[in-house]
Amino acid sequence: MSLIVLPVPAFSDNYLWLLHNGRHAAVVDPGDAAPIQAALDRLGVSLAAILVTHHHGDHVGGLPALLARHRVPVFGPAGEDIRGVDHRLCEGDEVNIAELDARFRVLDVPGHTRGHIAYVGQARAQGLLFCGDTLFACGCGRLFEGTPSQMQASLAKLAALPGDTRVYCAHEYTLANIRFAEAVEPENAALAARKARDSARRDQGEPTVPSTIADELATNPFLRWESPAVKASVERRAGRALSEPATIFACLREWKNTF
Ligand code: ZN
Ligand code: FE
Repeated sequence: MSLIVLPVPAFSDNYLWLLHNGRHAAVVDPGDAAPIQAALDRLGVSLAAILVTHHHGDHVGGLPALLARHRVPVFGPAGEDIRGVDHRLCEGDEVNIAELDARFRVLDVPGHTRGHIAYVGQARAQGLLFCGDTLFACGCGRLFEGTPSQMQASLAKLAALPGDTRVYCAHEYTLANIRFAEAVEPENAALAARKARDSARRDQGEPTVPSTIADELATNPFLRWESPAVKASVERRAGRALSEPATIFACLREWKNTF
C-alpha cells in the first residue's frame, strides 16, 4: 500500500496520526477534532476510519465531533468503554481499511491503561506501529492502571517487532526522555548520537518521531533490561541485586517518575 503518515500536532505535546493515500484517510487517536478536520480539508481527503489505542481524553476527545461529520467505523480496545467505538478489538484481531488498502493487526499492551492496544501494519514493506502511550521515543508511558510486569511484557512484545518498524507514538517527550536515559546509561554512544540528531530536529521545529524499533532497542532504557549497564545503574539506585526484567523495569519506571 502507498500510504503517507503525517503527524497532526495537538494540545501541548500530542501527535494525532493521519494516514492517507491522496483520496482517503484514517486517523489514530484523535484527541481533538479541529486539527484533524483542518488536515482533511487541506489534503482534500475523506475520512474512512478512526483507530484509538486507549481511553484517555487526549486520545479520544475528538470522537464526538468527528463522528457528527463522518460516518466511519471506529476501532478501539475491547477492554475499555469508549463512547463511539463500534469495533472492539483485542490481540489477534485485524483491522482492514479497504479504502487505504491497509491492514493492521492488534496487540494487547496493557500497563498505561488496562485495555491499551497497539496497531501493527505495513507500508512499502516497512512495518508501522501505532503504540499510543505505551512506548515513547526513548521512554514509555506511566503506569496508571497496570502493573510493572504487565507493562514490561507489553514493551517486550513491541521490542520483538522487526528493527525497521517505524514507531508512531502519541507524544513529543523525546528530549526529556533522553535526559533520563543519559542518567541511566551515560556511556551509551548510540544515545549520545540520538541526542544530537533529535535535538537538531527540535531546533528545526520538527518532530522526533517516528523512530524505529532499532533506535529504541539501542537507546531506550525501558527496552534495555538486558543491558549490563542499565542493570548496574538500576541496582545502584535500588541498593540491591535485581534479576527479573519486570523488577528492573519497575525500578526504572519509579526512578523516572521522580526524575
Ligand atoms: Zn494516555
Ligand atoms: Fe496521551
